[in-house]
Amino acid sequence: MSANLTFDISRNPNPMPPAERQKALEHLGFGTLFSDHMAIIEWDAATGWHSARVAARRPFEIDPAAAVLHYGQEIFEGMKAYRNGEGQLVLFRPEENARRFNASAERMAMPPIPEALFLEAVEQLVRVDADWVPAGEGASLYLRPFMFASEAFLGVRPSQKYIFSVIACPVGPYFSGGAKPITVWVTEDYSRAARGGTGAAKCGGNYAASLAAQARAYEEGCAQVVFLDAAEQKWIEELGGMNIFFVFDDNRIVTPELGTILPGITRQSLLTLAREEGLEVSERPYAFADWKADSESGRLREVFACGTAAVVASIGEAKFEGGSLRMGNGAIGPVTERLHHKLTGIQRGTEADTHGWVRVVS
Ligand SMILES: *Cc1c(COP(=O)(O)O)cnc(C)c1O
Repeated sequence: MSANLTFDISRNPNPMPPAERQKALEHLGFGTLFSDHMAIIEWDAATGWHSARVAARRPFEIDPAAAVLHYGQEIFEGMKAYRNGEGQLVLFRPEENARRFNASAERMAMPPIPEALFLEAVEQLVRVDADWVPAGEGASLYLRPFMFASEAFLGVRPSQKYIFSVIACPVGPYFSGGAKPITVWVTEDYSRAARGGTGAAKCGGNYAASLAAQARAYEEGCAQVVFLDAAEQKWIEELGGMNIFFVFDDNRIVTPELGTILPGITRQSLLTLAREEGLEVSERPYAFADWKADSESGRLREVFACGTAAVVASIGEAKFEGGSLRMGNGAIGPVTERLHHKLTGIQRGTEADTHGWVRVVS
């Protein structure tokens, strides 16, 4: 049934007027402006995937007993459509998002969606909302595929009904400070994920659980929170929504290994690019105590965070209970800059795509 679903496309009869849209696209923030359409595919245990469509963006009507509202069965993805130099609309490694979405689904006892169907939903939406893909440096159409449990029942068991959807947001830079290095808060009170938990799944609950730590980070004047491992409160894991890299004075780069962290596609891509740049890359545990010692000794030269939303964000300072660490001179380091430039160049079509990472949508 689901293998060759056809999408019903119905255009929004009241789209934002072009002049208004054009104006909105000139003042982009992050996550507050939405396109005219959405993609939806439904699933139930009897039929499987069905009713695939692209339609006007509008609120869902769900039962007050819908399982997602009570037990949090929800997963999502984050990806971007770019307008390259030739005016083509492209996606960056969307197959990886499809694969990760299904890994998240499996962890949350939700039905997998065929990768081709996931990709088609994303591409159909990008084509219908093509006028919403902004041009210009740092601008893109952020795509949010997600799935939630929609069956009405109270009781702890997997839902028998789900809604998969994709919405789109034209976005500018993720951090309001632009490309300036960010300050992060290393929390020693809260954990993000434990062994056997949901750290590797992109499920809504992980982010709900991170908000108190994030609020503390804001109080301390920091843009993001860095989590340590739950078992020992010793090893660096990642930020609330980004992976982290450490660059040393001998051309070595370290990033925490996979397991309880979210397997970032940006992280994976930067590991590949860093190796090609001749850097010695390792995925291994790195202790907070070593971060402190290596900052003091000067061996640690640069620290950056990465993810689809913010791409590469230089970390200029890390604060924690009772102290702070400055990274280098607080400016964006050369390795961070080079990797950022290379990655965004591939995404924008100004650097050769030797890995087949870019997929042309239209
Ligand atoms: C989405 C996310 C990332 C980054 O993943 P990308 O595929 O690079 O966008 C990293 N950490 C967390 C917790 C995330 O949710």
